Amino acid sequence: MEKKRALYLVLGSALFVGAGVLFYSYRKQIKYYSNVMIDKAKLKLVGRTINKIIIHCSATKPNQACTVELIDQWHRQRGFNSIGYHYVIYKDGTVHEGRPISEIGAHCVGQNSDSIGICYVGGLDSNGNASDTRTAEQKQSMRTLVAELKSVYGNIPVYGHREFSNKACPCFDVKKEF
Ligand SMILES: [Zn+2]
Repeated sequence: MEKKRALYLVLGSALFVGAGVLFYSYRKQIKYYSNVMIDKAKLKLVGRTINKIIIHCSATKPNQACTVELIDQWHRQRGFNSIGYHYVIYKDGTVHEGRPISEIGAHCVGQNSDSIGICYVGGLDSNGNASDTRTAEQKQSMRTLVAELKSVYGNIPVYGHREFSNKACPCFDVKKEF
């Protein structure tokens, strides 16, 4: 009898942990190009005014690893509290949460307090030159994510980082697309 109880306890714990892991990965990785889901009610209650969206690239080469976790490390090494972007779009089109929207980002000097920063993985060709390396999935996810954010915050303008700084980022003309 005791053995059976212990078995149930172990099985129950495993189920509990498994469900937690599943929920966590679901929250962290949302496939926008196939399935748009953001928590609009949550995003409305961010506690700061959102007036603009700013698009970035990670400035990484095609074969270079780049994940939310890596960007988080890079930005901490630069003295930020955490990853400076609010969303990161991987090459496969999956959208990953970075810094919570409720927190002011660290992605565009002078423009952080009222903006949301979106970064796509890429932006450099294999020689390290600025290039629009977005995949079809990234473009689709970017369009969908921007549309979703606009449905929450109104028809706010979308800018490329280079409109505020002397950089190539995000290596495409945002005004032509948004
Ligand atoms: Zn940038």
